[in-house]
Amino acid sequence: MQRRNLLAYLTLAAATPLAPAQSPIPIADAHNHLGLLRKNTDSVPKLARLMRESGVHLLSWTIVPDAPFLRTTPRGIEQARPIRPGELAMSFRMQISSATTAIQGNVPIVRTLEDLAKSNSEPCIVLTTEGADFLEGSLEGLAPAYAQGIRHVQLVHYVQNPVGDLQTERPLHRGLSDFGKRLVQALNDEGVLVDLAHSSGNAIDQALEISRLPMIWSHGFVTGSEPSWTVGGWRARGLAQTHARKIAGKGGAIGLWGLGPSFGGGLDAYASEIIRMVSVLGPEHVMFGSDEDGLPSDAVIDQLADLRKVVDILARRGVEEKVLRAVAFGNYQRCLRLAMEGRKV
Ligand SMILES: [Zn+2]
Repeated sequence: MQRRNLLAYLTLAAATPLAPAQSPIPIADAHNHLGLLRKNTDSVPKLARLMRESGVHLLSWTIVPDAPFLRTTPRGIEQARPIRPGELAMSFRMQISSATTAIQGNVPIVRTLEDLAKSNSEPCIVLTTEGADFLEGSLEGLAPAYAQGIRHVQLVHYVQNPVGDLQTERPLHRGLSDFGKRLVQALNDEGVLVDLAHSSGNAIDQALEISRLPMIWSHGFVTGSEPSWTVGGWRARGLAQTHARKIAGKGGAIGLWGLGPSFGGGLDAYASEIIRMVSVLGPEHVMFGSDEDGLPSDAVIDQLADLRKVVDILARRGVEEKVLRAVAFGNYQRCLRLAMEGRKV
């Protein structure tokens, strides 16, 4: 190197601090509400950059059709008023259209298996609906939702619905309704990932009997007890370890949300809980489901960069790379791929 070039190089090196060592391990978030509670609305226009910087390559962008009909009470989140026919379908249409507007031209939306494969190396969005209540008891709305880009459907959320029982209200269907059972088959055939989060234990058992493909529980926490709708609040959102093992036994994966009190608070405690879940369920069946911008308080993951911090903590704790790759990314991607490969229609 000539002296002049060397000087130029040294000047450049001094002016450009070394980028922090970035782990090459990509990240998937199986449940994210970026922009929903408006804690970080300004993240939405910067989404592509934020995903690239944090290495979050697969983000489940989750719309919430029943959100306009909910209220928060001391007992927890519940339905605020009776819902008229057409209202949930309309809410779905409005939210999918505004989500698509926000995302299109910003980050690619996964529609095909080829799109999904690209998430190995670049940021992609998965369009998800939290609750199939928007179908209002008919399978007719499913193909249009698929056409609009939906590839991941959570069966139930907080409102009573024709699909099945939820964790936070008195059961009405003894698990899944007849419609709910047909819906699980229809989602398999459509090539859409089934998400059991918020479903009652009976509903999970029945879905596991019906589904020909692995399913996920995108967000919540795993507990040794059997949570009941009567306990109220976030405690009702625990997934019994027995059910978590059954979901894992069928090849599925369980996502840990970012609600601090459910695992002791803080990113270190989040990482510890991930390690515990891996020991209970196996490395192929644990994933991140942050619920970013969906938790009104006590959230420890409220930025995409927080997920990268978790991966770094896990690496520092000595979690082997193969396990880390599965938990941080591979398990959600695999379940989504298997669901999409199963498309029959
Ligand atoms: Zn939820």
